[in-house]
Amino acid sequence: MKDIGSLLDRFQTVASSPRKQLEKYLAAGEKVIGCFPYYVPEELVYAAGMVPFGIWGSNDLPVNAAKEYFPSFYCTIAQLNLEMGLTGKLSGLSGVISPSLCDTLRPLTQNFRVAVPQIPLIFLAHPQNRRPEFGVRFTLSQYRSVKEKLEEIAGHSVTEEKLREAIRVYNKSRAARRAFVELAGAHPEAVSAVRRSAVLKAAWFMRKDEHTALLEELNHALAGLPPSGQEGLRVLTSGIILDNPNLLSLFDENGLIICADDVAHESRSFRVDVPEHEDPMTALALQFAAQDHDPLLYDPELKKRPAYVADLARRSGADGVVVLMMQFCDPEEMEYPSLLQALNDPGIPNVKIGFDQQMRDFGQAATSLQAFADLLRARK
Ligand code: SF4
Repeated sequence: MKDIGSLLDRFQTVASSPRKQLEKYLAAGEKVIGCFPYYVPEELVYAAGMVPFGIWGSNDLPVNAAKEYFPSFYCTIAQLNLEMGLTGKLSGLSGVISPSLCDTLRPLTQNFRVAVPQIPLIFLAHPQNRRPEFGVRFTLSQYRSVKEKLEEIAGHSVTEEKLREAIRVYNKSRAARRAFVELAGAHPEAVSAVRRSAVLKAAWFMRKDEHTALLEELNHALAGLPPSGQEGLRVLTSGIILDNPNLLSLFDENGLIICADDVAHESRSFRVDVPEHEDPMTALALQFAAQDHDPLLYDPELKKRPAYVADLARRSGADGVVVLMMQFCDPEEMEYPSLLQALNDPGIPNVKIGFDQQMRDFGQAATSLQAFADLLRARK
């Protein structure tokens, strides 16, 4: 068995250079489909024999060309997805699938079509009323349309058998990633916040069967470690994305151990499995119907997600919650007062860190996290 350090290095290599990973698939003659944030049913891409590839902006690229298409108050993930298309960073993709669950993603789909016509964009509209029978039917019709477009690109049809196999592969990946989140929280001496992020980020750029095989090896090695003697402050992270190594290293420097997360780029993407159903397409639609606790999704009770985050903090034994607030992310910003109340009422310490993917100076975040760590230490 490989040692933990070398396994973590493998994930780190992929996470830090997605373009190289893309080139690897292209050189092997694979067709690759970009998957914009979030809730893309990647199983359809996998079942079509193509590689799903997550596109969640970039921490290295400045926004220049995309400024012509967006006002400045759009989140940087959307701006950078377009910038990547405009600057050739996505060249080689056979298509991209873009959901449209927020007011920023919708114009992104249209701008991308106009600005990057060489990469076909597959538009995906999820219903907000996703649970009633009519909502499931709507999702199903959308997924069928996505499947047809993928079949055109792949040049062959997707069989039920392939779809069932894809669902098995993805459910296995979700289970392995959930297990890793637990193990990483229990073994901060082996998995730093920077490394934890790299493992989860790499899943967006690797075929899920490849990623799971490596991750199961890592999980097995972590499960065999003696209990960690590392003293630390356990925190739950919440937000859209937390993949910037400079920001993550502040967690490590301040002894903040990420014991659980409510991050869209991380656990929100693997907490719900695809259920068993005789029709695999319906199974995928039912999975979306079961998604919950997310400011992007309609919640008739309005407070389910804030209550979920507070409860997750309790269940995971977190000493506090770090809310990563992506600048100009309307759904997260608008729900923040309810989240704050859900955390403050039972006395769960919390801090909000504002950031975007253009951020290069982390001085303010460093001060906030250091002060937060001091507060948590004083309460111990
Ligand atoms: S959910 Fe927020 S971060 Fe994601 S695309 Fe929409 S506005 Fe941007």
